[in-house]
Amino acid sequence: MANILLVDDRPENLLALEGILEPLGQPLLYAHSGDEALRQLLRHEIAVILLDVQMPELDGFETATLIKQRERTRHVPIIFVTAISKDEEQVFRGYSAGAVDYVFKPFNPQILRSKVAVFIELHEKNEQLRRQAELLKEQELTELRRESEERYRFLAEAQPDQIWTAQPNGELDYVNQRALDYFELPFSRLVEQGWTTVVHPEDLGRMLERWQHALATGQQYENALRLRRAADGSFRWHLMRAVAMTGRGGEVLKWFGANTDIHDQKRAEEAQRFLVEAGAALASSLDYRSTLAAVAKLAVPRIADWTRVDVLEADRLRTVAVEHVDPHKVELALELARRYPERPDAQQGPPHVVRTGESELAIEIDEERLAELATDDLHLGLVRELGFQSYMCVPLTAHGRVLGAISFVAAESGRRYGPEDLALAEELARRAGIAVENAQLYRESEERAQAARVLETVADGVFLVDDAGVVRLWNSAAESITGIRRNGIVGHALEEALPGWERVTGRSETLPLELDGRERWLWVSGVSFDDGTVYAFRDVTEDHKLEHIRQDLVATVSHELRTPLAAIYGSALTLNRDDIVLEQDIRTRLLNVIVDESTRLATIVDDLLVASQLDAGRLDARIESCDAAALAESVVRAARTHLPDRIRLELDVSSGRLPPVAADEAQLRQVLDNLLDNAVKYSPGGGEVRVAVRAAGDLVRFAVADGGLGVPAAERSRIFEKFYRLDPDMTHGIGGTGLGLYIARELVRRMGGRIWVEPNDGPGSVFTVEIPAASGVEKERKPRKKAVATR
Ligand code: ADP
Repeated sequence: MANILLVDDRPENLLALEGILEPLGQPLLYAHSGDEALRQLLRHEIAVILLDVQMPELDGFETATLIKQRERTRHVPIIFVTAISKDEEQVFRGYSAGAVDYVFKPFNPQILRSKVAVFIELHEKNEQLRRQAELLKEQELTELRRESEERYRFLAEAQPDQIWTAQPNGELDYVNQRALDYFELPFSRLVEQGWTTVVHPEDLGRMLERWQHALATGQQYENALRLRRAADGSFRWHLMRAVAMTGRGGEVLKWFGANTDIHDQKRAEEAQRFLVEAGAALASSLDYRSTLAAVAKLAVPRIADWTRVDVLEADRLRTVAVEHVDPHKVELALELARRYPERPDAQQGPPHVVRTGESELAIEIDEERLAELATDDLHLGLVRELGFQSYMCVPLTAHGRVLGAISFVAAESGRRYGPEDLALAEELARRAGIAVENAQLYRESEERAQAARVLETVADGVFLVDDAGVVRLWNSAAESITGIRRNGIVGHALEEALPGWERVTGRSETLPLELDGRERWLWVSGVSFDDGTVYAFRDVTEDHKLEHIRQDLVATVSHELRTPLAAIYGSALTLNRDDIVLEQDIRTRLLNVIVDESTRLATIVDDLLVASQLDAGRLDARIESCDAAALAESVVRAARTHLPDRIRLELDVSSGRLPPVAADEAQLRQVLDNLLDNAVKYSPGGGEVRVAVRAAGDLVRFAVADGGLGVPAAERSRIFEKFYRLDPDMTHGIGGTGLGLYIARELVRRMGGRIWVEPNDGPGSVFTVEIPAASGVEKERKPRKKAVATR
């Protein structure tokens, strides 16, 4: 229907128009002024306007101009109706104001009606056209929408991800085939149940919370969760994401979602993180058992519900670590290992893995298989209680060597091992193997270092010779005993470095070797092993000498004792004879022999006694001030009583002031007696023996010079050693115990003095004894002064 707007300020005119146009059967609208006409145009769709030209305020032309200015009404045809403005100018104004026609009063109703009818028809045609265009547009749009929907479905179906859409309330309304395949559910079931039945129970709470939040706010939804794959029942990690499509007012029209499988990526990240942690744990100890315990701990619960580590120790497989998510079951697992150890030739399990170096993987172990594996009911019970759902066992290796095996068992958690798990376990075992090997190497090197430290501190020489006869080790003691530096022998052939060593049989023995131009006696013992021999040796030169000397002493002393005893025995026997009559002087001589030899015997025994007292530190000295000259005179006088004819004995006391000496008089007399005895004894060819006494600063020197056998330079200090004799075999027929000079030196030392020997001018030697003067002693030697004062 087309509205016809009639505009005239006079109601009678309107009425007239109404009468003319009513038969057209179209709705008629009325306006009594230009303003009202404009208002009507705002409110209604108008097909044609009949506009009176003469109107107060806004006239017809002004009204038409305003109508033409408005976008919505500019095309509405206007027919001017007028009684007066018939002149050209007026008509022209009307047309320029936008009129389509001009009707003059009085008008022919027929003509007016037909004119309006034409415009009505035009309007209706236009309307029809517009409607048709709209319809067409609508149809195109629907088609377009259908196409785009189809396109995005195609797109969705082509995606590798699970794609879905949901209603604003979160209800699923589309899921791509990929998702349906993954869950093996018909669309209707998935829509009905939503995600709840396919999400891992542990991830469900978080999913619902975040989804509700997204639905409430229209914000993007994102969450990592595990979705159950129907094919193998495993839960795979997915990233579930959804964004809302919103309308003009911001209201949510639809949710577009995608679930992307990030399982492998997440596993790889987790594995990487796990291996990094494992690295830290493995490096934390250098004790290999703790290292393996750390591995077992690390694997639970990350990889397994329980683990067991078995290690080859002395060719036997031993369980060294067990870890279980439930600490109470550790004992159970240990009991299983104890009671039902796998046979070394088993065709599966740790022994098999260790033998072959190949991993084992059992993705699913069902009840039937379990029963097959168990040896008896108890075994089955234990295994059942521990739980065995999925299992893998990997070799613990280092540099191609199998050290043991690690078993991983999935039980309570319901997880199933797959190839990725096996790869991770193998990598863990490989790293653990290296850590174990490092720990073992460290222990060995620590032991070696300890052994080396011990070797360096032992007093015995120790060295190692390899099977090629090359010295490989030479300790400090070996250096100091032999004088051969380490770098001069290690790496060299032993027989070149140590000539004479080839005589060593390897058993414990004592033998002489020429070292550094000196003869050294070594006690040697050697132990051979696969790669060579280790020798230990000790310098026993001194012990050997002492032993030698002791043997000499026994011979000497027994000879020394026997000689006077024989003389005493012979004299006594003769005196005792009654078959002959002895003359008085013979009797006297025999008695003198007995007295002299008894004295000699007593001297020997005394010497032995004094020497042993000196050794034990039990010989005290009573230091006092003695007259040196008087002492020397007394000693010489006594010697003269039994002086052989061949010897001339002279005493030479300093003419100047001779200070008293600070000495134990009896002991100093013994020293001088001995020196004088020796001078006589070792002058078998006779000659002069001179005793000189001189002051030398704070000291007094007693020198006993002879023209006898003399002492070679090399032996000058040694003759003061205990039992040391220049001529132990008595080639000169001069006996002695080798104790006299030793005793002399020790006594002189205790008096704070010195004793030494020098060659005499010409043959013979000069023995000098230096004793502090009594006055000097008072100044410097306080303890001695005290000894003097107490006397
Ligand atoms: P002995 O009982 O053998 O004389 P000593 O201790 O008195 O013991 O002397 C040790 C050694 O020193 C003697 O065996 C001797 O070889 C040597 N000796 C000591 N005094 C003299 C000396 N005046 N002249 C040469 N050799 C001496």
